[in-house]
Amino acid sequence: MELRLYDTLTKEKRTFVPLNPQDVRMYVCGPTVYDFAHIGNARPVIVFDVLFRLLRHLYGEAHVKYVRNITDVDDKINDRAARDFPGLPLNEAIRKVTEETGRQFHADVDALGALRPSVEPRATEHIGEMREIIEKLIAGGFAYVAEDHVLFSPQAMNAANSELPRYGALSNRSLDEMVAGARVDVAPYKRGNTDFVLWKPSKPGEPSWPSPAGIKAEGRPGWHIECSAMAWKHLGTHFDIHGGGIDLVFPHHENEVAQSCCAFHQSRMANYWMHNGFLQVESEKMSKSLGNFITIRDLLADWPGEVLRLNMLKTHYRSPIDWTLKSLEESGKTLDDWYRVAAVVPPGKPATSVIEPLLDDLNTPQTIAALHGLRNASDAAGLAASLRLLGFLSETAAQWEGRKRQASGVDASEIDRLISERTAARARKDFKESDRIRDQLAAMGVAIKDSKEGTTWEIAR
Ligand code: AMP
Ligand code: ZN
Repeated sequence: MELRLYDTLTKEKRTFVPLNPQDVRMYVCGPTVYDFAHIGNARPVIVFDVLFRLLRHLYGEAHVKYVRNITDVDDKINDRAARDFPGLPLNEAIRKVTEETGRQFHADVDALGALRPSVEPRATEHIGEMREIIEKLIAGGFAYVAEDHVLFSPQAMNAANSELPRYGALSNRSLDEMVAGARVDVAPYKRGNTDFVLWKPSKPGEPSWPSPAGIKAEGRPGWHIECSAMAWKHLGTHFDIHGGGIDLVFPHHENEVAQSCCAFHQSRMANYWMHNGFLQVESEKMSKSLGNFITIRDLLADWPGEVLRLNMLKTHYRSPIDWTLKSLEESGKTLDDWYRVAAVVPPGKPATSVIEPLLDDLNTPQTIAALHGLRNASDAAGLAASLRLLGFLSETAAQWEGRKRQASGVDASEIDRLISERTAARARKDFKESDRIRDQLAAMGVAIKDSKEGTTWEIAR
């Protein structure tokens, strides 16, 4: 069985051949830590967690390295810090914002059943590597200094007669069109209107570091160079998979490729570029102004993280996903059922029928259909092992049921009391009373089931 992955660069599914099967390497762009992560941010986290788990299954846990960075230097962070902690020096306020947001992010994605990546580098801990890459780019004639900025020139890259990729290849754009379409009111220090920032001066009070290229004023890095530096440090100059959301293809990933390939004189940065599609909510683009902006935290108040995880995986990662309450409710019911069946048996082996669709460019809708198949065939042990492989069943059946009771705000001892009253009514053949109690329970959202062993109950969602 071989793994096939869709590569955004070559626009085709190709058999995945790692550069070194003993050391499979993947980089995914992580969050900019200034606010609660929203449910759209959860999509790459969940999708690439499934890929990480699959790669570990195929190559062995010790042979897969997954790097997901934390962007902790950014204008949005500075703005947030100044707004939330006006009394503090800016740098202290920034540290508070990034530490607190980083903690929230971890708590959220842990609840979604995502494994921690092998390394989570922070941009501010890799400024030295960024300066080194910038120096190489200047020495190679791909970047230049202007008014204390360092700028990268895509035109210099495409003019170079070498093995380098073409700027624009990843995002399928032509540089000539980009030049023609660029804004005219471009910063005066830029030689070309598509040149982008590698390094810029810091404003007074902003975080700043010694600059490269002999620039006297202290400064800070541009966004794209951060990922080139962190990927290089932790995965080397050329690695297997680079991922992120589809919005990152241009300019972020196009610029990462340009920086890394020009600095290290190579034709590829990553062998497979993978991008998840966008998430919208109830058929509308999620935005703060529309009032339909949902954080992972909001959803976790109402739903177990595994329900969010299953709901996300019902759609193939490259398709857009429409996040709806209806679909969430269905995912909740499915997991209730799977927990009842699979969380009470020792797991067997993950089923081939579940793994095969994953090998076809992470076809998770097909994988979920296979899970339903196992359920219908009463293969509880296969279902249990397959669910665990996919990051489900982290709780026991009792924990799952108990959490549902808690979440729905019902008092279990009150329910037990009503059920014994109903049992007593039935014993004395007072069916009017026993029906009344059943209706009362139903109104509380509790469904009861009678069997030879007695009466059991569950929360009817
Ligand atoms: P950001 O913190 O905005 O840089 O985003 C972190 C990750 O979430 C990136 O991989 C983005 O592409 C991804 N992302 C942001 N919004 C959405 C969305 N609505 N749907 C899917 N992915 C998203
Ligand atoms: Zn990145």
